[in-house]
Amino acid sequence: MSTTTAEQDGSPAAPLQAPPDPPLDAELRAERAARARVAAARLAAESVEGVILSWVDNAGLTRVKTVPVRRLEHAAAWGVGAAPCFDVFLVDDSITTSRHIGGPAGDLRLIPDLDRLTRLAAQPGWAWAPADRYAQDGSAHPGCQRRFARRSAAAAALRGIEPLTGIEIEWVVALAGAPGEPPVHPTHGPAYGLHRLVDLSDYLRDLLHALDEQGMAVLQLHPEYTPGQFELSLDPEGPLGAADTTVLARQTIRAVGVRHGLRTSYAPAVEPDAVGNGAHLHLSLWRDGQNLGQGGPGRYGLTGEAESFLAGVLAELPALLALGAPSPASYLRLVPRRWAGAYRCWGLENREAALRLIPGPPGEGPASANAELKCFDAAANPYLLIGAVLAAGLAGLDARRALPAEVPGDPAALPEGEVPRLPASLAAAVAEYQTSGVLREALGDPLYEAVLAVRRGELALFAGHSPAELAAATRWRY
Ligand code: GLU
Ligand code: MG
Repeated sequence: MSTTTAEQDGSPAAPLQAPPDPPLDAELRAERAARARVAAARLAAESVEGVILSWVDNAGLTRVKTVPVRRLEHAAAWGVGAAPCFDVFLVDDSITTSRHIGGPAGDLRLIPDLDRLTRLAAQPGWAWAPADRYAQDGSAHPGCQRRFARRSAAAAALRGIEPLTGIEIEWVVALAGAPGEPPVHPTHGPAYGLHRLVDLSDYLRDLLHALDEQGMAVLQLHPEYTPGQFELSLDPEGPLGAADTTVLARQTIRAVGVRHGLRTSYAPAVEPDAVGNGAHLHLSLWRDGQNLGQGGPGRYGLTGEAESFLAGVLAELPALLALGAPSPASYLRLVPRRWAGAYRCWGLENREAALRLIPGPPGEGPASANAELKCFDAAANPYLLIGAVLAAGLAGLDARRALPAEVPGDPAALPEGEVPRLPASLAAAVAEYQTSGVLREALGDPLYEAVLAVRRGELALFAGHSPAELAAATRWRY
């Protein structure tokens, strides 16, 4: 295992930051146009009419513009216009403002990433690509969440580290024709029960088929705990790929549901006092093909680097909740004894610890060892979440942090205060976020402040809501 050099040569390490993004110049635009022309011809031959360009806003909602397939070439080179004030949209579509970003003026360009261009299996005639956001002059938009995730991955790469990440997808289905409040579930089978699987057998088969057609590698699919809930996990990928995959998987689940008369919710709390929809983040760190979470001298085989990285994440976790549990409704979910990871601690295979260490069965191979961050939910913007967790981990790695003592059992069974709780409200998480130098530096002021404005806006929006009102107001927004 190699270590950082700071203390070896006695000089303070320069912060390893990704270099600035190259602007879109004439040459790059021409290259993109040429690639898009070929891709568009292929899609048109497959009867695709339109291409969806998506980005995820700071409230956690996926927003889109579309172009007819013959305009893909132009969009790839010059983008599609989108207002910068989308960065300060709230979950109910009201709009706040922030110091650097906001107001009705200005325009950005959505540039589709052709590497992820995918024909949609459950929306015939449509293709999808995630978009990066640029200014008119071709410079990268500092509020672009996808760029942030990419930069965090680049910062890891500068340290020789390749992270593999994956976000578990949990959702609840209800009958589309029924009144939305309260949701009427199409199955009343028990948690994890075969009953639920049989009731929705065709839906789930079509979902597996659609994901497969889109080249997405499903690891498993099962009924989850809460009424009408299911969970899907996919093969881990690099940080940007995993965030894109999360967006595409959620879109696909929704689209298959529509074809089966089902409505889909990714809300953190579909019901005010039941198990919610988590978005657990799995993560492993690799150098030269070696998993840094295995075969090291530390606890459970952790290398020093893996331990320091995880300790950095644990240290920053209260502030990270402002990105990973971003709605006031997130805190209806993040409570003890719901396997949501409400305690700021780590433990081996401990489902009540925010950080669950998963060494994998001995002999299964290096790919199985990973860490799972359970406290995050499906309202989180996956780009912000993954980018920020990496930034926090790298800060821990640079500082050579060590993990505290492990918490082996149920923290709620211990005397109160023995294991710290994570923030129990968005207001408390936002207070932590406001003091996080690590996150401010990683996000950069424009993005950091736009996120802060959105969080404050939603705190004001839902002030005084009862848990039932809060769940109802957010249930069908995510
Ligand atoms: N649905 C639970 C959550 O809100 C997680 C259940 C599990 O997969 O462990 O995080
Ligand atoms: Mg689950």
